[in-house]
Amino acid sequence: MTEVSIERLTKTFGTARAVDGISIRIADGEFISLLGPSGCGKTTTLKMIAGFEEASEGAIRFDGKDVVNVPAEKRDIGMVFQNYALFPHMTVDQNLAFGLEMRKIAKPEMRSRIAKVLDMVQLGGYSERFPNQLSGGQQQRVALARALVIEPKILLLDEPLANLDAKLREEMRVFIRDLQRRVGITTVYVTHDQAEAMTMSDRVVVMFGGRIAQIGAPSDIYERPENLEIAQFVGQVNLIKGTIIGAAEAGKRRVASVFGEVAVDSREDYAPGTAVTLSLRPEAIELRPEGQGGAAGKVTARYYSGSIIDYRVALDSGETLHVQTFPNIRIAEGDRVSVHAPADGFWLLGAAK
Ligand code: ATP
Repeated sequence: MTEVSIERLTKTFGTARAVDGISIRIADGEFISLLGPSGCGKTTTLKMIAGFEEASEGAIRFDGKDVVNVPAEKRDIGMVFQNYALFPHMTVDQNLAFGLEMRKIAKPEMRSRIAKVLDMVQLGGYSERFPNQLSGGQQQRVALARALVIEPKILLLDEPLANLDAKLREEMRVFIRDLQRRVGITTVYVTHDQAEAMTMSDRVVVMFGGRIAQIGAPSDIYERPENLEIAQFVGQVNLIKGTIIGAAEAGKRRVASVFGEVAVDSREDYAPGTAVTLSLRPEAIELRPEGQGGAAGKVTARYYSGSIIDYRVALDSGETLHVQTFPNIRIAEGDRVSVHAPADGFWLLGAAK
């Protein structure tokens, strides 16, 4: 098992800094996602860990040993790509045997490893099939098996579910996560899909423009984003204007807002009178029929999607809110409503811009 430590890792292409001095310490057996918009440097980071791309500056250590000058094939890494990258003219069995033959693993050991790993990805009966005789999800499981069969120190996955349809993608998230837990392999997963990163990871590394914006547990990133850009990237968010009144219990700040006075969590301190921006997630808001306190408003739109209903609510004070509720709420478009938000639904994003 392996701890991966990245220090001030940088990659420049000409004058552009695709990865700009990032540092991450990935614990043994941890599942880390690199999450960010297209072009933020996720794949370049992964390629540097794999050894497919040379680092311009910085260190990459596996269990304390700098591997920057170790060639890719000697780094002992299993990698899975978006396009599966299986050998099309080889059967599943031959695809899996390839890496083992390269490593000169003896035949009996090879047979037992292939059988074990195919069993793990639930493709026991498929060893004689060719890739084009498998569904996308099955091909991706073969790619996963091929990465794991060499018993690598580290597993690297680059958008492995991007080519699958929505339902299969959700199933595969859980499948990969469970498999990773069972095998206990240190894993770095690249994705631009926030739900994917949050469901699967122990910690999420949010990247923008080649830099790390925030590292934390999924709930930390979602509930306590460092800034507005992160809050918006990892989900829907309402921005509420507030004014600092003073300190509240447990390090919170008392803030005046359209929802009255609320005690809000914050990383920083602000002087009384400071104009601030609060975030409020759509699912934290509760709609009640008119006349039940809270902030008054009117439902301007309602979108039913089975498991949830999305509402747009225009508050009388001028703000528009995005609200998500369970579908058992019987509130229709055009209804006047009382809008309630619990104090722990708010987060103090920072001083108003
Ligand atoms: P995506 O989700 O679209 O794959 P990403 O976050 O993985 O994006 P990278 O592929 O790491 O981003 O690219 C980061 C930046 O580096 C981009 O601006 C990209 O255009 C640039 N880049 C990547 N590879 C090269 C290269 N070989 N030569 C020049 N520029 C490159």
